[in-house]
Amino acid sequence: MKTLIKGGKVVTAIETMNADVMIVDEKVVGLVDSDSDISRSFSEDALVIDATDRLVVPGGIDVHTHFESEGQIAPVLDTFETGTQASAFGGTTTIIDFAWRATGGSLLDGLEHYHQMAQGDCAVDYGFHMMVNEVDDQTPKEMDMLVDEGITSFKMFMAYPGRMYSTDAQLLTCYQKAGENGSLIQMHAENGIAIDVLRDQAIDKGQTDPVYHSLTRPALLEAEAVHRSVVLAEIAGCPLYIVHLSSANALQEVVAARDRGLNVFAETCPQYLFLDLTDLERPDFEGSKYVCSPPLRPTDHQAELWRGLKTNDLQVIATDHCPFCWTQKELGRGDFRNIPNGIPGVEHRMELMYQGAVAEGRVSLNRWVDMCSRAPAQMFGLYPRKGTIAPGSDADIVLFDPESPHVISAETHHMNVDYSCYEGHEVTGKVDTVLLRGQVVVEGTEYLGRAGDGQYLSRDLCDGLI
Ligand SMILES: [Zn+2]
Repeated sequence: MKTLIKGGKVVTAIETMNADVMIVDEKVVGLVDSDSDISRSFSEDALVIDATDRLVVPGGIDVHTHFESEGQIAPVLDTFETGTQASAFGGTTTIIDFAWRATGGSLLDGLEHYHQMAQGDCAVDYGFHMMVNEVDDQTPKEMDMLVDEGITSFKMFMAYPGRMYSTDAQLLTCYQKAGENGSLIQMHAENGIAIDVLRDQAIDKGQTDPVYHSLTRPALLEAEAVHRSVVLAEIAGCPLYIVHLSSANALQEVVAARDRGLNVFAETCPQYLFLDLTDLERPDFEGSKYVCSPPLRPTDHQAELWRGLKTNDLQVIATDHCPFCWTQKELGRGDFRNIPNGIPGVEHRMELMYQGAVAEGRVSLNRWVDMCSRAPAQMFGLYPRKGTIAPGSDADIVLFDPESPHVISAETHHMNVDYSCYEGHEVTGKVDTVLLRGQVVVEGTEYLGRAGDGQYLSRDLCDGLI
Protein backbone atom coordinates (compact mmCIF):
# COMPACT_ATOMS: atom_id res chain seq x y z
CA MET A 1 0.00 0.00 0.00
CA LYS A 2 1.25 3.45 -0.95
CA THR A 3 0.55 6.71 0.87
CA LEU A 4 1.64 10.21 -0.06
CA ILE A 5 1.55 13.02 2.49
CA LYS A 6 1.36 15.98 0.20
CA GLY A 7 2.09 19.68 0.50
CA GLY A 8 3.18 19.88 4.13
CA LYS A 9 6.19 21.28 5.90
CA VAL A 10 8.31 18.38 7.10
CA VAL A 11 10.05 19.07 10.40
CA THR A 12 12.61 16.72 11.90
CA ALA A 13 15.03 17.37 14.73
CA ILE A 14 17.58 18.51 12.17
CA GLU A 15 15.80 20.20 9.29
CA THR A 16 12.65 21.85 8.02
CA MET A 17 11.61 21.50 4.38
CA ASN A 18 8.62 21.67 2.12
CA ALA A 19 8.34 18.11 0.84
CA ASP A 20 5.98 15.27 0.12
CA VAL A 21 6.50 12.12 2.14
CA MET A 22 6.27 8.85 0.22
CA ILE A 23 5.27 5.79 2.22
CA VAL A 24 5.12 2.18 1.12
CA ASP A 25 3.39 -0.11 3.58
CA GLU A 26 4.87 0.70 6.99
CA LYS A 27 7.97 2.61 5.94
CA VAL A 28 8.94 6.00 4.65
CA VAL A 29 10.63 5.49 1.28
CA GLY A 30 11.44 9.04 0.30
CA LEU A 31 10.89 12.77 0.59
CA VAL A 32 10.40 14.62 -2.67
CA ASP A 33 9.56 18.02 -4.05
CA SER A 34 5.81 18.49 -4.30
CA ASP A 35 5.96 19.60 -7.92
CA SER A 36 8.21 16.80 -9.04
CA ASP A 37 7.38 14.06 -11.51
CA ILE A 38 8.28 11.50 -8.86
CA SER A 39 5.60 12.83 -6.54
CA ARG A 40 3.08 12.96 -9.37
CA SER A 41 3.65 9.41 -10.51
CA PHE A 42 3.81 8.08 -6.93
CA SER A 43 0.44 9.71 -6.19
CA GLU A 44 -1.33 7.89 -9.03
CA ASP A 45 -1.96 4.72 -7.06
CA ALA A 46 -1.41 6.06 -3.57
CA LEU A 47 -3.67 7.27 -0.80
CA VAL A 48 -2.99 11.01 -0.85
CA ILE A 49 -3.23 12.91 2.43
CA ASP A 50 -3.39 16.67 2.06
CA ALA A 51 -0.97 18.32 4.46
CA THR A 52 -1.36 21.90 3.28
CA ASP A 53 -0.65 24.32 6.15
CA ARG A 54 0.35 21.43 8.37
CA LEU A 55 3.63 20.55 10.00
CA VAL A 56 4.57 16.97 9.20
CA VAL A 57 6.54 15.66 12.16
CA PRO A 58 7.77 12.29 13.44
CA GLY A 59 5.35 10.57 15.81
CA GLY A 60 5.95 11.48 19.44
CA ILE A 61 7.74 9.10 21.78
CA ASP A 62 6.78 9.14 25.44
CA VAL A 63 9.32 7.08 27.35
CA HIS A 64 7.67 7.38 30.75
CA THR A 65 4.15 6.03 31.17
CA HIS A 66 2.46 3.84 33.76
CA PHE A 67 -0.51 2.03 32.23
CA GLU A 68 -2.21 -0.61 34.40
CA SER A 69 0.65 -0.17 36.84
CA GLU A 70 0.28 -2.48 39.80
CA GLY A 71 1.27 -2.11 43.42
CA GLN A 72 0.02 1.47 43.90
CA ILE A 73 -2.29 2.65 46.68
CA ALA A 74 -5.16 2.50 44.17
CA PRO A 75 -5.51 1.00 40.68
CA VAL A 76 -4.09 3.16 37.89
CA LEU A 77 -7.03 3.96 35.66
CA ASP A 78 -5.64 3.92 32.14
CA THR A 79 -5.18 0.44 30.75
CA PHE A 80 -2.78 -0.23 27.92
CA GLU A 81 -5.81 0.07 25.65
CA THR A 82 -7.22 3.37 26.89
CA GLY A 83 -3.85 4.92 27.61
CA THR A 84 -2.34 4.19 24.24
CA GLN A 85 -5.46 5.39 22.47
CA ALA A 86 -5.16 8.70 24.31
CA SER A 87 -1.47 8.70 23.32
CA ALA A 88 -2.45 8.34 19.68
CA PHE A 89 -4.86 11.26 19.91
CA GLY A 90 -2.02 13.31 21.31
CA GLY A 91 0.36 12.46 18.46
CA THR A 92 2.43 9.99 20.47
CA THR A 93 2.94 6.84 18.42
CA THR A 94 5.40 5.08 20.71
CA ILE A 95 5.34 4.66 24.45
CA ILE A 96 7.77 2.93 26.77
CA ASP A 97 6.14 1.72 29.96
CA PHE A 98 7.62 0.14 33.06
CA ALA A 99 7.43 -3.56 33.81
CA TRP A 100 8.17 -4.72 37.33
CA ARG A 101 7.71 -7.70 39.58
CA ALA A 102 4.73 -6.31 41.44
CA THR A 103 3.68 -9.81 42.40
CA GLY A 104 7.10 -11.21 43.33
CA GLY A 105 9.09 -13.73 41.33
CA SER A 106 11.97 -12.85 39.05
CA LEU A 107 12.41 -9.75 36.94
CA LEU A 108 11.77 -11.93 33.91
CA ASP A 109 8.49 -13.11 35.44
CA GLY A 110 7.55 -9.47 35.91
CA LEU A 111 8.30 -8.74 32.27
CA GLU A 112 6.25 -11.71 31.12
CA HIS A 113 3.33 -10.49 33.20
CA TYR A 114 3.47 -7.05 31.59
CA HIS A 115 3.74 -8.57 28.14
CA GLN A 116 0.51 -10.40 28.81
CA MET A 117 -1.22 -7.24 29.97
CA ALA A 118 -0.14 -5.16 26.97
CA GLN A 119 -0.26 -7.68 24.17
CA GLY A 120 -3.14 -7.16 21.75
CA ASP A 121 -4.32 -4.03 23.56
CA CYS A 122 -2.05 -1.22 22.45
CA ALA A 123 -3.02 1.43 19.93
CA VAL A 124 0.59 2.57 19.47
CA ASP A 125 3.93 0.80 19.46
CA TYR A 126 5.28 0.02 22.90
CA GLY A 127 8.32 -1.16 24.75
CA PHE A 128 9.27 -1.69 28.36
CA HIS A 129 11.87 -0.51 30.78
CA MET A 130 12.39 -2.82 33.74
CA MET A 131 11.98 -1.46 37.22
CA VAL A 132 14.58 -3.01 39.49
CA ASN A 133 13.65 -3.39 43.12
CA GLU A 134 14.88 -5.87 45.77
CA VAL A 135 18.30 -6.22 44.18
CA ASP A 136 19.84 -9.61 44.99
CA ASP A 137 22.55 -11.91 43.64
CA GLN A 138 20.39 -12.84 40.67
CA THR A 139 19.68 -9.28 39.59
CA PRO A 140 22.84 -8.62 37.52
CA LYS A 141 22.39 -11.92 35.68
CA GLU A 142 18.78 -11.08 35.00
CA MET A 143 19.80 -7.68 33.67
CA ASP A 144 21.90 -9.45 31.04
CA MET A 145 19.01 -11.70 30.10
CA LEU A 146 16.65 -8.75 29.85
CA VAL A 147 18.99 -6.90 27.50
CA ASP A 148 18.72 -9.92 25.21
CA GLU A 149 14.93 -9.49 25.36
CA GLY A 150 15.15 -5.90 24.14
CA ILE A 151 14.87 -4.38 27.60
CA THR A 152 17.86 -2.10 27.56
CA SER A 153 17.04 0.31 30.37
CA PHE A 154 16.58 -0.25 34.10
CA LYS A 155 14.78 2.06 36.45
CA MET A 156 15.98 2.27 40.01
CA PHE A 157 14.80 4.28 42.98
CA MET A 158 16.49 6.30 45.67
CA ALA A 159 12.97 7.09 46.89
CA TYR A 160 10.26 4.95 48.52
CA PRO A 161 12.10 3.02 51.28
CA GLY A 162 10.57 -0.38 51.92
CA ARG A 163 9.01 -0.52 48.48
CA MET A 164 11.11 0.35 45.46
CA TYR A 165 14.16 1.81 47.24
CA SER A 166 17.67 0.53 46.61
CA THR A 167 20.64 1.13 48.88
CA ASP A 168 23.80 2.73 47.51
CA ALA A 169 25.38 -0.74 47.51
CA GLN A 170 22.56 -2.13 45.42
CA LEU A 171 22.68 0.84 43.09
CA LEU A 172 26.40 0.47 42.54
CA THR A 173 26.06 -3.25 41.80
CA CYS A 174 23.49 -2.59 39.09
CA TYR A 175 25.34 0.45 37.74
CA GLN A 176 28.42 -1.74 37.30
CA LYS A 177 26.38 -4.30 35.39
CA ALA A 178 24.95 -1.55 33.17
CA GLY A 179 28.48 -0.29 32.54
CA GLU A 180 29.36 -3.82 31.45
CA ASN A 181 26.41 -4.72 29.24
CA GLY A 182 25.77 -1.28 27.75
CA SER A 183 22.31 -0.72 29.18
CA LEU A 184 21.07 2.52 30.69
CA ILE A 185 20.18 3.23 34.31
CA GLN A 186 17.17 5.47 34.83
CA MET A 187 17.13 7.01 38.26
CA HIS A 188 14.29 8.28 40.39
CA ALA A 189 16.53 10.65 42.28
CA GLU A 190 15.05 11.76 45.59
CA ASN A 191 16.51 10.95 48.99
CA GLY A 192 13.62 8.81 50.19
CA ILE A 193 15.09 8.06 53.62
CA ALA A 194 15.27 11.74 54.57
CA ILE A 195 11.94 12.50 52.89
CA ASP A 196 10.17 9.89 55.00
CA VAL A 197 11.39 11.60 58.16
CA LEU A 198 10.04 14.95 56.97
CA ARG A 199 6.73 13.39 55.95
CA ASP A 200 6.18 11.76 59.33
CA GLN A 201 7.15 14.97 61.15
CA ALA A 202 4.64 16.96 59.09
CA ILE A 203 1.80 14.59 59.95
CA ASP A 204 2.77 14.73 63.65
CA LYS A 205 2.40 18.52 63.42
CA GLY A 206 -1.03 18.21 61.82
CA GLN A 207 0.20 19.31 58.41
CA THR A 208 -2.00 16.96 56.41
CA ASP A 209 -2.92 18.96 53.28
CA PRO A 210 -1.69 18.11 49.75
CA VAL A 211 0.77 21.00 49.68
CA TYR A 212 2.86 19.23 52.35
CA HIS A 213 3.50 16.51 49.79
CA SER A 214 5.75 19.04 48.07
CA LEU A 215 7.10 20.79 51.16
CA THR A 216 8.37 17.48 52.59
CA ARG A 217 10.14 16.57 49.34
CA PRO A 218 12.44 19.60 49.03
CA ALA A 219 14.40 20.24 45.87
CA LEU A 220 17.64 19.94 47.84
CA LEU A 221 16.89 16.27 48.50
CA GLU A 222 16.34 15.76 44.78
CA ALA A 223 19.63 17.50 44.02
CA GLU A 224 21.48 15.46 46.64
CA ALA A 225 20.20 12.25 45.12
CA VAL A 226 21.14 13.34 41.59
CA HIS A 227 24.62 14.16 42.83
CA ARG A 228 25.03 10.82 44.58
CA SER A 229 23.77 8.86 41.60
CA VAL A 230 26.14 10.76 39.30
CA VAL A 231 29.09 9.85 41.52
CA LEU A 232 28.08 6.19 41.59
CA ALA A 233 27.66 6.18 37.80
CA GLU A 234 31.07 7.77 37.35
CA ILE A 235 32.66 5.11 39.53
CA ALA A 236 30.80 2.33 37.72
CA GLY A 237 31.47 3.79 34.28
CA CYS A 238 27.87 3.71 33.08
CA PRO A 239 25.68 6.34 31.45
CA LEU A 240 22.94 7.71 33.68
CA TYR A 241 19.51 9.09 32.87
CA ILE A 242 17.59 11.02 35.52
CA VAL A 243 13.84 10.57 35.14
CA HIS A 244 11.29 13.35 35.79
CA LEU A 245 13.78 15.99 36.89
CA SER A 246 11.73 18.71 38.58
CA SER A 247 13.93 21.40 40.07
CA ALA A 248 16.62 23.96 39.31
CA ASN A 249 18.74 22.44 42.09
CA ALA A 250 18.68 18.98 40.52
CA LEU A 251 19.37 20.45 37.09
CA GLN A 252 22.50 22.17 38.44
CA GLU A 253 23.87 18.75 39.37
CA VAL A 254 23.17 17.42 35.87
CA VAL A 255 24.81 20.46 34.32
CA ALA A 256 27.87 20.04 36.53
CA ALA A 257 28.14 16.37 35.57
CA ARG A 258 27.80 17.09 31.87
CA ASP A 259 30.31 19.91 32.10
CA ARG A 260 32.74 17.34 33.44
CA GLY A 261 32.12 15.27 30.33
CA LEU A 262 30.06 12.51 31.96
CA ASN A 263 27.30 10.71 30.07
CA VAL A 264 24.55 12.03 32.29
CA PHE A 265 21.15 12.83 30.80
CA ALA A 266 17.77 13.87 32.08
CA GLU A 267 14.12 14.13 31.19
CA THR A 268 11.62 16.58 32.54
CA CYS A 269 7.85 16.55 32.20
CA PRO A 270 5.20 19.10 31.18
CA GLN A 271 3.89 19.27 34.75
CA TYR A 272 7.17 20.80 35.93
CA LEU A 273 7.02 23.40 33.15
CA PHE A 274 3.34 24.36 33.24
CA LEU A 275 2.15 23.66 36.81
CA ASP A 276 3.56 24.74 40.15
CA LEU A 277 3.30 24.64 43.93
CA THR A 278 0.22 26.87 43.96
CA ASP A 279 -1.73 24.08 42.24
CA LEU A 280 -1.11 21.92 45.31
CA GLU A 281 -2.53 24.73 47.44
CA ARG A 282 -5.91 24.67 45.72
CA PRO A 283 -8.72 24.64 48.30
CA ASP A 284 -11.14 21.85 49.16
CA PHE A 285 -8.53 19.15 48.67
CA GLU A 286 -8.38 19.91 44.95
CA GLY A 287 -4.62 20.18 45.38
CA SER A 288 -4.55 16.39 45.60
CA LYS A 289 -5.13 16.25 41.84
CA TYR A 290 -1.61 17.60 41.43
CA VAL A 291 0.21 15.13 43.67
CA CYS A 292 3.08 13.44 41.85
CA SER A 293 6.71 12.71 42.72
CA PRO A 294 8.98 14.56 42.53
CA PRO A 295 6.43 17.22 43.44
CA LEU A 296 5.47 20.44 41.69
CA ARG A 297 7.86 23.24 42.64
CA PRO A 298 7.61 27.00 43.12
CA THR A 299 7.28 28.79 39.76
CA ASP A 300 10.84 30.08 39.65
CA HIS A 301 12.15 26.59 38.85
CA GLN A 302 10.35 26.63 35.50
CA ALA A 303 12.58 29.19 33.79
CA GLU A 304 15.62 27.11 34.73
CA LEU A 305 14.09 23.95 33.29
CA TRP A 306 13.28 25.77 30.04
CA ARG A 307 16.85 26.98 29.97
CA GLY A 308 18.04 23.40 30.40
CA LEU A 309 15.90 22.30 27.46
CA LYS A 310 17.32 25.08 25.36
CA THR A 311 20.93 24.20 26.17
CA ASN A 312 20.40 20.43 25.87
CA ASP A 313 21.23 19.82 29.51
CA LEU A 314 17.73 18.32 29.53
CA GLN A 315 17.22 16.10 26.52
CA VAL A 316 13.83 14.46 26.78
CA ILE A 317 10.23 15.36 27.53
CA ALA A 318 8.15 12.52 28.97
CA THR A 319 4.94 12.60 30.96
CA ASP A 320 5.15 10.10 33.85
CA HIS A 321 1.48 9.53 33.03
CA CYS A 322 -0.10 7.77 36.01
CA PRO A 323 -3.77 8.72 36.38
CA PHE A 324 -6.04 8.41 39.39
CA CYS A 325 -9.54 9.83 39.50
CA TRP A 326 -10.78 12.40 41.92
CA THR A 327 -12.41 9.86 44.25
CA GLN A 328 -9.20 7.82 44.43
CA LYS A 329 -7.29 10.95 45.38
CA GLU A 330 -9.76 11.31 48.29
CA LEU A 331 -7.99 8.38 49.97
CA GLY A 332 -5.47 10.90 51.21
CA ARG A 333 -7.86 13.38 52.79
CA GLY A 334 -6.51 13.97 56.30
CA ASP A 335 -3.09 12.46 55.46
CA PHE A 336 -1.30 13.54 52.29
CA ARG A 337 0.89 10.43 52.50
CA ASN A 338 -2.07 8.35 51.31
CA ILE A 339 -2.87 10.39 48.21
CA PRO A 340 -2.32 8.19 45.15
CA ASN A 341 0.85 9.48 43.59
CA GLY A 342 0.62 10.40 39.93
CA ILE A 343 -1.12 12.56 37.38
CA PRO A 344 -2.45 12.16 33.84
CA GLY A 345 -0.79 13.79 30.85
CA VAL A 346 0.13 11.39 28.04
CA GLU A 347 -2.34 13.00 25.64
CA HIS A 348 -1.13 16.57 25.91
CA ARG A 349 2.66 16.35 25.74
CA MET A 350 3.08 17.33 22.09
CA GLU A 351 0.58 20.20 22.16
CA LEU A 352 1.74 21.63 25.48
CA MET A 353 5.36 21.49 24.44
CA TYR A 354 4.57 23.11 21.09
CA GLN A 355 2.88 25.88 23.02
CA GLY A 356 5.60 26.45 25.57
CA ALA A 357 8.55 25.79 23.32
CA VAL A 358 7.57 27.04 19.87
CA ALA A 359 4.46 29.23 20.08
CA GLU A 360 5.89 31.14 23.04
CA GLY A 361 9.24 31.41 21.30
CA ARG A 362 11.57 29.61 23.68
CA VAL A 363 13.13 27.09 21.30
CA SER A 364 13.01 26.14 17.62
CA LEU A 365 10.56 23.86 15.88
CA ASN A 366 13.36 21.37 15.36
CA ARG A 367 14.23 21.37 19.03
CA TRP A 368 10.58 20.63 19.83
CA VAL A 369 10.77 17.54 17.61
CA ASP A 370 14.08 16.66 19.16
CA MET A 371 12.91 16.62 22.76
CA CYS A 372 9.58 14.93 21.99
CA SER A 373 10.72 12.37 19.45
CA ARG A 374 14.33 12.10 18.25
CA ALA A 375 16.17 12.27 21.57
CA PRO A 376 13.91 9.73 23.32
CA ALA A 377 14.27 7.39 20.31
CA GLN A 378 18.03 7.66 20.33
CA MET A 379 18.35 7.45 24.09
CA PHE A 380 16.32 4.25 24.25
CA GLY A 381 17.60 2.31 21.26
CA LEU A 382 14.90 3.07 18.70
CA TYR A 383 16.62 5.52 16.37
CA PRO A 384 16.41 5.86 13.36
CA ARG A 385 13.56 3.39 13.12
CA LYS A 386 11.61 5.89 15.22
CA GLY A 387 12.16 9.57 15.89
CA THR A 388 12.61 10.89 12.37
CA ILE A 389 11.08 11.02 8.90
CA ALA A 390 13.65 9.53 6.57
CA PRO A 391 13.86 6.68 4.06
CA GLY A 392 13.75 3.44 6.02
CA SER A 393 12.16 4.83 9.15
CA ASP A 394 8.74 3.68 10.35
CA ALA A 395 5.99 5.87 8.92
CA ASP A 396 4.90 7.13 12.33
CA ILE A 397 3.87 10.62 11.34
CA VAL A 398 1.82 13.43 12.82
CA LEU A 399 0.16 16.16 10.80
CA PHE A 400 0.17 19.05 13.23
CA ASP A 401 -1.89 22.18 12.70
CA PRO A 402 0.13 25.04 14.20
CA GLU A 403 -2.83 27.43 14.03
CA SER A 404 -5.73 25.69 15.71
CA PRO A 405 -6.28 27.31 19.08
CA HIS A 406 -8.17 25.19 21.58
CA VAL A 407 -8.57 24.67 25.30
CA ILE A 408 -7.51 21.50 27.10
CA SER A 409 -10.30 19.94 29.12
CA ALA A 410 -11.39 16.68 30.69
CA GLU A 411 -14.59 17.11 28.67
CA THR A 412 -12.73 16.40 25.46
CA HIS A 413 -9.69 14.34 26.42
CA HIS A 414 -9.48 10.59 25.87
CA MET A 415 -7.57 9.55 28.97
CA ASN A 416 -9.59 7.43 31.37
CA VAL A 417 -9.65 9.95 34.18
CA ASP A 418 -12.23 12.48 35.30
CA TYR A 419 -10.09 15.58 35.53
CA SER A 420 -7.33 17.33 33.63
CA CYS A 421 -4.37 18.97 35.32
CA TYR A 422 -4.35 21.38 32.39
CA GLU A 423 -8.08 22.21 32.50
CA GLY A 424 -8.56 25.58 30.80
CA HIS A 425 -5.03 25.82 29.41
CA GLU A 426 -5.10 27.39 25.95
CA VAL A 427 -2.81 26.01 23.28
CA THR A 428 -2.45 27.20 19.70
CA GLY A 429 -1.40 24.00 17.91
CA LYS A 430 -3.33 20.79 17.47
CA VAL A 431 -2.64 17.23 16.46
CA ASP A 432 -4.67 16.73 13.32
CA THR A 433 -3.88 13.36 11.71
CA VAL A 434 -1.75 10.53 13.06
CA LEU A 435 -0.20 7.65 11.17
CA LEU A 436 1.20 4.58 12.87
CA ARG A 437 3.52 2.67 10.56
CA GLY A 438 1.72 4.03 7.52
CA GLN A 439 -1.80 3.50 8.78
CA VAL A 440 -4.03 6.46 9.64
CA VAL A 441 -5.10 5.87 13.25
CA VAL A 442 -6.40 9.33 14.14
CA GLU A 443 -8.13 11.83 11.90
CA GLY A 444 -9.41 14.92 13.67
CA THR A 445 -11.62 13.75 16.49
CA GLU A 446 -11.98 10.25 15.09
CA TYR A 447 -10.05 7.17 16.12
CA LEU A 448 -9.60 4.89 13.12
CA GLY A 449 -7.25 2.30 14.59
CA ARG A 450 -7.86 -0.82 16.61
CA ALA A 451 -6.57 -2.16 19.89
CA GLY A 452 -3.64 -4.33 18.96
CA ASP A 453 -2.32 -2.09 16.18
CA GLY A 454 0.62 -1.33 18.41
CA GLN A 455 3.56 -3.71 18.23
CA TYR A 456 6.10 -4.59 20.90
CA LEU A 457 9.46 -2.95 20.32
CA SER A 458 12.51 -4.94 21.22
CA ARG A 459 15.04 -2.15 21.70
CA ASP A 460 18.70 -1.90 20.85
CA LEU A 461 21.25 -0.81 23.40
CA CYS A 462 20.94 2.80 24.38
CA ASP A 463 23.14 5.21 22.56
CA GLY A 464 24.87 6.71 25.55
CA LEU A 465 26.53 9.51 23.67
CA ILE A 466 23.68 11.62 22.34
ZN1 LIG B 1 7.09 7.27 36.86
